[in-house]
Amino acid sequence: DDKDRDFEPGPPGLLPDGLRGPDLPPMQPTYRFGDPSLPVSRYRRQILYLVENHATTIIVGETGSGKTTQVPQFLFEAGWAENGFCIAVTQPRRVAATTVAARVAEELGCDLGTTVGYAVRFDNALTAGRTRIKYLTDGVLLREMLDDPLLTSYSVIIVDEAHERSLATDMLLGLLKKIQRRRPDLRLIISSATLEATKLKDFFDAGTVTAAAAAAKRRAAAAAAAAGGVPPPPSDPDRTPAVVTVEGRTHPVQVHYLESPAPNYVHAAVEAAVNIHCEDLPGDILIFLTGQEEIQGAVGLLEEHARRLASSRGYSLKLLPLPLYAGLPGAQQQMVFRSTPRGYRKVVAATNIAETSLTIEGIVYVVDCCFVKQRCYNPLSGLESLLVAPVSKASAAQRAGRAGRMRAGHCFRLCTEEDFTKQLPEVAVPEMQRSNLVGMVLQLKALGIDNVMRFEWLAPPPAEALVRALEELHALKVLDEDARLTRDVGLALAALPLEPGLGAALLASRDLGCCEEMLTLVALLSLQQVWAPAQGAVRALEEAKAKFATAEGDGVTLLNVHRAWRGSGRSAAWAQRHFLNQHALLRADDARDQLLGLMRRHGLLPADKLPPSCERDMESVCRAVAAGRFMNAAVFERIEYNPLAPEGDKGTPVFRLVRYTAQRTHPIKLRIHNSSVLWRSMPSCVVYNTVQQADNGWYEMQGVTAVRPEWLIELAPHMFHKPNPT
Ligand code: ADP
Ligand code: MG
Repeated sequence: DDKDRDFEPGPPGLLPDGLRGPDLPPMQPTYRFGDPSLPVSRYRRQILYLVENHATTIIVGETGSGKTTQVPQFLFEAGWAENGFCIAVTQPRRVAATTVAARVAEELGCDLGTTVGYAVRFDNALTAGRTRIKYLTDGVLLREMLDDPLLTSYSVIIVDEAHERSLATDMLLGLLKKIQRRRPDLRLIISSATLEATKLKDFFDAGTVTAAAAAAKRRAAAAAAAAGGVPPPPSDPDRTPAVVTVEGRTHPVQVHYLESPAPNYVHAAVEAAVNIHCEDLPGDILIFLTGQEEIQGAVGLLEEHARRLASSRGYSLKLLPLPLYAGLPGAQQQMVFRSTPRGYRKVVAATNIAETSLTIEGIVYVVDCCFVKQRCYNPLSGLESLLVAPVSKASAAQRAGRAGRMRAGHCFRLCTEEDFTKQLPEVAVPEMQRSNLVGMVLQLKALGIDNVMRFEWLAPPPAEALVRALEELHALKVLDEDARLTRDVGLALAALPLEPGLGAALLASRDLGCCEEMLTLVALLSLQQVWAPAQGAVRALEEAKAKFATAEGDGVTLLNVHRAWRGSGRSAAWAQRHFLNQHALLRADDARDQLLGLMRRHGLLPADKLPPSCERDMESVCRAVAAGRFMNAAVFERIEYNPLAPEGDKGTPVFRLVRYTAQRTHPIKLRIHNSSVLWRSMPSCVVYNTVQQADNGWYEMQGVTAVRPEWLIELAPHMFHKPNPT
C-alpha cells in the first residue's frame, strides 16, 4: 500500500538523514486497475454507459474524487483502447500531465512510457504502438492536429480541468466539436472541478439533434433491444451531452482571516505555517504562493525554522518543507506525494498547480496567499504581461477545500475578511480574454481555419485582440495580403513548437549565419529559469551573473553561460557553484536537439550539414533576436528620479514602447527588470522577451537585448521610420 511507502531516495540534501526508505516493491506482472476506494469508482458503470451512448460526457466532481486518474483506467479496462486506439487525457499544465501519468502507471503496475505515457512540449515518455493511455498538455494535442487533423489515433479524448479555461483548452473544445461531426466514433469526456458544466453542455448541445429527437431515438433503440434486435452501434451516439456529477467525500473546513493586511505574504505564510506547527496537532500543511521564486524563498525560511525548532525540542514532529512548482525536476515533484515519514510534518509550498490538478494526501491545513500569477493583455498597447493578481473566490474555495480531504481542516487566508469579500473577483476571466492571441491564430490558420472571427468559440476572444494578432502576424510576414499563411515563414513557423516571435528569430538566424547559437537560445528561453536563485544568496547570484554578462544583453549572456557550462563538461557541481539550474540546462539541450531535428525534417535546414554558426560574432545573434522581437522594441527616454531614494541612487532609466501610439493619453511606465544584466544601464534601444507587472505600476522587461534602431527599420520598414529631422 502507498501509505506505508517511504520516500524514494531523492537528490542529496533534500531529505533529512535516515530517511532513505526501502526500495519500491517489484512491479506487478498484471494490471491492478485503479483505486476502488475513490468516490468516482461508484460511478464507473454509469460513466461507461454514458460514454458508450453519448458523443460527449461531462463529468463534474469534487477535486480528488478520481476523475483524472481513474476514468482513463475504466475506459482502458472496458476496451476503449483496443484495435490500436489510444485514450488521450489533456491537462493545462505539464506538471500535471507528467505526475498523473506516473501515478496511473504505478496503479496499473506498468513502467511509465509503456502502457501509460505522457507527452508535453519537448519531453515525452511513450512507446509507439504500445501506449494506450496518454496524458498530454492541451497544447501538445493541438500540435498533433497539424499532422492528423481528425486525431484518428484516439477513441476517447478526455479534456480535463476544463474549468481552468486555459487558452489551449478553450481552443481545443471548439476544434473537437468540429472533429466530432466528422468522426461519430470519437467520444469526448470533459471534466471539470466546478460548475462550468451548464456552459459546456450548451456549447456541445448547440447545432446537434434536439433532445426530443434524441429521446425518440433512444426509445426506438430500447424497443429494438427489447424485441431482441441489436443495440445501436457506438458509432451512432446520442449527440446531446450527458452530465454526471460525482459526489465526493469532504469534511468541513474552517476559514480564518487576518485581522490586518500582511505587508509581505511570503513571510506571513511562513509565519502562519510555523504557528500551526507549534500548536503541535497532527496534519500536513499546504501553502499556496504564486511562483517559483516565492516558493524557494518560503522553503528556505521554513528550513531555517525547522533547524531552529528541531534543536529546541518540545515538539513531537519535525518540519519537512517541500516545494512544488513547474520548474522542479520530476523526482523532486514526486517527493511531495510520498506519504509523510513518521515523526515529520510535511509543509508543501506550491503554485496553484495544487489547487485542482494535483491532490496531496494528508493535508489538514491550507495557507492561502490569495494571489495568483496571471497573464494579462492590453490590446491597446499590445503588451502581454505577467501580473500577480488576487485569486478568484471560486479558486480560493477550491484551495480551502484541499484541507478537508482527511478530516475537518482549517484554511488560513492571508488577507482580511473585508478585503476578501470586496477585492476578489467571483470567478477568473478565461485566459483567452487576457492573452496575446498571435500563437493561437497562427495555429488556427495552420489547421485551415481561415475565418478566425467566425470560429465556434466557447466564449469569443475580444475582437481587438484578434485584430491585433492578425496585424502582428502580418508584420512577422506569417500572413500574406489575403491573410493566408505564407509558405516561407507562415508554414515554417506553424511547424515549430515555439511561440511565433522566437520561431521567427530562429528562422531569421539561418540567413544571419547564427542558427547554431539561436537554436540554443530559443531552447533556453522556451523553458524555465536558467538561474537558480538561492535563499540568502542574492549578492552571490549577482556576482555569478556578472561573470557572464555582456553589454549585448540577456540573450548573449545566456549563450555565454551555456558555452561555459558545456566547457565544464555539463557538470552539475559547476552549475550549482554558479547558481544555475542544471535540470533546466539539460532540458534545454534536449529541446535544442529536438528543434534541430524538426527543422531538418521540415526542410528548414539541410540534413547533412551542421547549422551555421557565427562563432563569437554576437551582433548577428542580436539581429536575429530583433527579427523575431521587433514588436517588443523600446527606446530609452529619460531617467526618473525618486525623491525618496537614498543619496547616490542613480534613478531609473525609463523606456518607451516604440509601436505604442497612445503613450500620451494612456501612459505606461516601462523599465528593465532587475533580473536583467542590462538593469540600470541605458541602452538606447532594446527588445524584450517578456514583461512582468510590478505592484507599483511599472511594467518590467525581462530577457532584454540591446539592438540598433536601424535594424528595426530594415526589418520592418512598414512599422518603424527614421525620426523626422526637426
Ligand atoms: P481528481 O482528478 O478528481 O481531482 P485524481 O484522479 O487526480 O482526482 O486523484 C485521485 C486520488 O489519487 C487522490 O486521492 C490523490 O491522492 C491520488 N493521487 C493522484 N496522484 C497521485 C500521486 N502522484 N501520488 C499519490 N497519489 C496520487
Ligand atoms: Mg483531476
